Amino acid sequence: MQIAGKFILATTLALACGGRALARPVLLEHATVIDGTGAQALADTSILMDGGKIVGVGPHLSAPRDARRVDLTGRTVLPGLISDHSHVGQVSGTTNGSQNYTRANILAALRQYERYGVLTVTALGLNKSPLFDELRREQHAGRNPGADLFGVDQGIGAPDGVPPQSRFNLAPDEVFRPTTADEARAAVDRMADEGTDLIKLWVDDFRNGVPGAKPLPKMSPEVYRAAIAQAHLRGKRVAAHIHDLSDARALVAAGVDILAHGVRDQAVDVALIEDMEQHGTWYIATLDLDEANYIFAEHPEWLDDPFLSAGLDPALRAQFADPAWRAKTLSAPLTAASRKALAMNMHNLLALYRAGIHVGFGTDSGAMPTRIPGFAEHRELYLSVAAGLTPLQAISLATGNAAALLQLPDRGTIAPGRRADLLVVDGHPERDIGDMHRIAQVWQRGVMTDGPLTGAR
Ligand SMILES: [Zn+2]
Repeated sequence: MQIAGKFILATTLALACGGRALARPVLLEHATVIDGTGAQALADTSILMDGGKIVGVGPHLSAPRDARRVDLTGRTVLPGLISDHSHVGQVSGTTNGSQNYTRANILAALRQYERYGVLTVTALGLNKSPLFDELRREQHAGRNPGADLFGVDQGIGAPDGVPPQSRFNLAPDEVFRPTTADEARAAVDRMADEGTDLIKLWVDDFRNGVPGAKPLPKMSPEVYRAAIAQAHLRGKRVAAHIHDLSDARALVAAGVDILAHGVRDQAVDVALIEDMEQHGTWYIATLDLDEANYIFAEHPEWLDDPFLSAGLDPALRAQFADPAWRAKTLSAPLTAASRKALAMNMHNLLALYRAGIHVGFGTDSGAMPTRIPGFAEHRELYLSVAAGLTPLQAISLATGNAAALLQLPDRGTIAPGRRADLLVVDGHPERDIGDMHRIAQVWQRGVMTDGPLTGAR
């Protein structure tokens, strides 16, 4: 009878976990381990996983008799990557718009993130209720394949301003555009009532450094101060879209918790660094954002790289292969501005990192068709290293730091008790960040997922 009882319990647990049945314990052996804390890589280390969690890390672990053993000689294990700034349901192929905000499209993107080893995604605004809240709950419960999902419900933009409704083809219900402090507080309350993880503000005139570009109306300080105060009253932190140093400074002074883009118009100064230190403000550079405006026009040969192909929609592939599109993109004023913005963003990331500011990880992937889910995060790692971080530091941003920004102590590092969300790559990414493209396995909650990007470079 006891055995039957155990069997029933096990079946119930497996059913409770939906599509992903509980696996037997797994022992990953002889791996190099990058634990996500910034510590040096550990050679010849084992990781024991059970019940979806890491239960042991060390050189000589004893495993239960029924454990599956996986030899990872020559391979490196690191925590699953975490994006603090992405979007879902915005793009499909080469299109943007609210018609793309569907369950099927969002779940497909979350599966793509997973294949690239990005196992937690933060959709920072432009989301529709109640679908977003349903999907967050389902991903938290592991009910569908794909990355876990957090984020901001709609977010707060400026009337007739950013995020631009016509250019992004947004529906009115995807963003609040309050005109008064009262309306701003009401928007925060709506999102807080629906359980948003954070509040998002857009404070930018969207010139994007293009000479002669017409500025869009920017959110007033009265509105963003009211939103920040109300968010804090409701126990929610606020992430702000910014481009310019002056807006970054004003928002940090107003108590914003996260700068969700890098400062891209000029070098950060001591005043901003001191203010961020004092307030404990987090910073997300999103280097990939500006690069994605032109890089595919510059590198048509990347179309032959399976690491890109794996995440490339056919319509987008056709666009990248079109010489007319490439010529037009490369000569566009936005491309010159984006190159400058990227260089400044890289400079500022290094300056803030070295000053000891809390830096998270994000790309704004999924907001525009060329910010390709998963691929963008790997570009961000590459660009962070190009900016002057060591590969180990860049990986820490995308793992331990990114989890700390989200206040998720259950992931982002490899230690007993953490979720068994792991990425396995061939080679040594702590020496060559390019090895991050050599994805061999992706483990989510201790279960190996289908279809990682095997052996691509
Ligand atoms: Zn964004």
